[in-house]
Amino acid sequence: MNIKILGTRAKVKKSLSNHAKHSGVLIDNKLLLDVGEKEFLDYKPEYILFSHLHPDHAWFVETNEQLRVDIPVYAPELSRYIEKVNLLHSPITLDGYKITPIPTLHSIKVKSVGLLIEYGGKRLYYSGDLAWIEKQYHPLLHDLDLVITEGSYIKKKGVIRRKDDQIYGHQGIPDLITLFSRFSPKIIFMHLGTWFMKDAKTGMQKIMELQPKGVELDVASDGKEYEL
Ligand SMILES: [Zn+2]
Ligand SMILES: [Zn+2]
Repeated sequence: MNIKILGTRAKVKKSLSNHAKHSGVLIDNKLLLDVGEKEFLDYKPEYILFSHLHPDHAWFVETNEQLRVDIPVYAPELSRYIEKVNLLHSPITLDGYKITPIPTLHSIKVKSVGLLIEYGGKRLYYSGDLAWIEKQYHPLLHDLDLVITEGSYIKKKGVIRRKDDQIYGHQGIPDLITLFSRFSPKIIFMHLGTWFMKDAKTGMQKIMELQPKGVELDVASDGKEYEL
């Protein structure tokens, strides 16, 4: 799989030119995961899949437009912002790519999933935004080749809020590393928060200091490509 990270900025002020665009990941020029910027449609993907409908992952929510495209669109919930949406609640196969939505804890108001994508014997997991993944879903993450996740907060525990018995928000990078290093030899961070935007070089160093033995960490920039 060719994986192109189109945008690496969380919902924070734009300050670095190579971390300017909001979330989007393009796989083999076919699958577009999240559309944080309208321009991502120029890649002419064949399928669009949303992790969730927050504006930094679905640009039209911010501008109050409706997404109208002539390709299949999948999302974890129906939305007035998308003309025609296919519900993403069970595994699907698109053009040989097996895609399994795995529910994530992130928001009280919107439904969210991470996407397990299997193709050519490789297993990739894109988390979208993440407070946590409930334990019952962890077995689905076995033997991953790559995890692409969010980097909103470098501090442990990130910003996690609680309503009744549900947690929501964004988990800290140290905790995400602990979680995903059990399942994958490589973790790429995107969706970078203010802490990173102040100074990318220092930010990169801070993440690398957390690198566990046997696990490769990387920080994506807008347009960076990976082969799997
Ligand atoms: Zn979000
Ligand atoms: Zn986000």
